[in-house]
Amino acid sequence: MLRIRDIQQPIDHTPESLVRAILVKLKIRKDELLDYRIVRQAVDARKKMAIFLVYSIDVHVKNEKRFLDRRKSGAIVPAPNQSYHEVASGRETLSASPVVIGSGPAGLFAALLLARRGYRPIVLERGKEVSERYRDVERFWASGELSGESNLHFGEGGAGTFSDGKLTTLIHDPRCRKVLEEFVAAGAPADILYLSKPHLGSDRLPAIVKTIRQAIIALGGEVHFNCCVSGLKAKDNQITGVDISGQGSMEASAVILAPGNSARDTLAMLFKTGVNLHAKPFSIGVRIEHEQQWLAETQYGSSAGHPRLGAADYKLVFHAPGGRSAYSFCMCPGGLVVAAATEADGLVTNGMSLYARNGTNANSALLVGVDPADFGNDHPLAGIEFQRIWERKAFALGGNNFFAPLQLVGDFLANRPSKVLGSIEPTYRPGWCLTNMNDCLPDYVIETLRSALPFFDKQIPGFASHDAVLTGVETRSSSPVRIVRDECFESNIRGLYPAGEGAGYAGGIMSSAVDGLRAAEALIRKFACP
Ligand SMILES: Cc1cc2nc3c(=O)[nH]c(=O)nc-3n(C[C@H](O)[C@H](O)[C@H](O)COP(=O)(O)OP(=O)(O)OC[C@H]3O[C@@H](n4cnc5c(N)ncnc54)[C@H](O)[C@@H]3O)c2cc1C
Repeated sequence: MLRIRDIQQPIDHTPESLVRAILVKLKIRKDELLDYRIVRQAVDARKKMAIFLVYSIDVHVKNEKRFLDRRKSGAIVPAPNQSYHEVASGRETLSASPVVIGSGPAGLFAALLLARRGYRPIVLERGKEVSERYRDVERFWASGELSGESNLHFGEGGAGTFSDGKLTTLIHDPRCRKVLEEFVAAGAPADILYLSKPHLGSDRLPAIVKTIRQAIIALGGEVHFNCCVSGLKAKDNQITGVDISGQGSMEASAVILAPGNSARDTLAMLFKTGVNLHAKPFSIGVRIEHEQQWLAETQYGSSAGHPRLGAADYKLVFHAPGGRSAYSFCMCPGGLVVAAATEADGLVTNGMSLYARNGTNANSALLVGVDPADFGNDHPLAGIEFQRIWERKAFALGGNNFFAPLQLVGDFLANRPSKVLGSIEPTYRPGWCLTNMNDCLPDYVIETLRSALPFFDKQIPGFASHDAVLTGVETRSSSPVRIVRDECFESNIRGLYPAGEGAGYAGGIMSSAVDGLRAAEALIRKFACP
């Protein structure tokens, strides 16, 4: 097959015009084109008056070799082989089934691969299965009644189950394709295989993660909910098992550890056990909300709302003169700002969308990078205490009931508390409290955001409009800790494979899932299939 890149089409194009474009690009007749398949579809909206779809297409044509001379142009190349390469099994003997801690993307994809290879993994997940978890999350949003073990971070599918389900990533790893294919096999829409910005949505994710769980079980694995791993057993620096809170222990000579970035008790347990941990940089800030319709018109002009464009989004970066940076993160078009707390006295925001992304507001996090020098001491878990300080301040500022501190951008820029809402209705539940963000974020974060907003407004006019809503605080953008692992993916305790975002090796659904696959491959390379 050949891959043709950079085929531009107007957004209203027909399938026939796409075929004509292929024929023109290859300078062939219609009967010479045997088959074609879209492998990437992106939107080029740099000129609002002339928005294009840009395609990469794999084609089968008669006598393909003649086209390979044109490779120098870069526009026609042999189609790369995207199939997943399985690793060979090792020789060491497993004393029991491998254990996977956590059923987020990292744990779930690690377990799925182990199950497909016949290793019969046992997944231990502290939270509940997805439909019970859904009810707990809904209750929290409606009433502020938080469940410490079943919330937006803990439970089947992990942190991303109630999210926008964006599958975009900055990593370039061939395993990304494998992750997308597994999602499609589990019921995700097939267009995620070629859209440049694929997403799943909070309404589709629960069924998808449940299907992956069922696949693991059908392949001989086990998935246990309400099983919080509270201790590790090791002998001669080799893992021998895990303790499960209130439920005894389980033997294991290989454990994939994928606890996500909010399992603070688990990270504290790892520290006490002597697992090598390092503090790492992450980011904190606020969520910003605008009207989605305004954003769509700003980005797409008169084409706003065209079904082929999808919901408009943005990505913004600002480098402050002092060295700090501010950036937009986890943009959720047509989405909601959500309460994402895990502790009874700490408030955390995040964002989610349904697949249709058809809500009234657009939101994204506006974050400023922080690093261990900001944390106050050099303890490996100092970043967690740093997060807690700001989460507790936000909780208190909102009224000690999970109402979020909220401020309009105009007031934030003028450094005065907000008194009344403007034209944008905030989406955060269970409620909010108009105030001044100064009181729940570090000065340097506030100052960097105050410098960034006018800069962002130049890129998207209206971005820093008076009525845009800021909701605080966003503190769990990525892990404040790295669980050190070597080139064989093992920690200083042999047989313990840290993986995913909480281990500090990924940020987001796709990279966490890929990291889970990499950890499972490392385990397979070492151990024989039982
Ligand atoms: C509201 C929200 C929206 C998001 N939106 C997006 C998005 O659109 N796109 C994107 O790419 N990323 C998004 N993210 C981030 C993404 O969800 C995470 O990067 C990803 O889930 C990390 O995967 P993980 O497997 O490493 O950890 P997690 O998904 O956090 O999973 C860890 C799992 O381990 C379990 N666990 C923890 N400790 C223990 C223990 N001791 N014993 C047993 N089980 C344990 C937890 O209950 C949890 O289920 C979002 C996150 C949130 C919270």
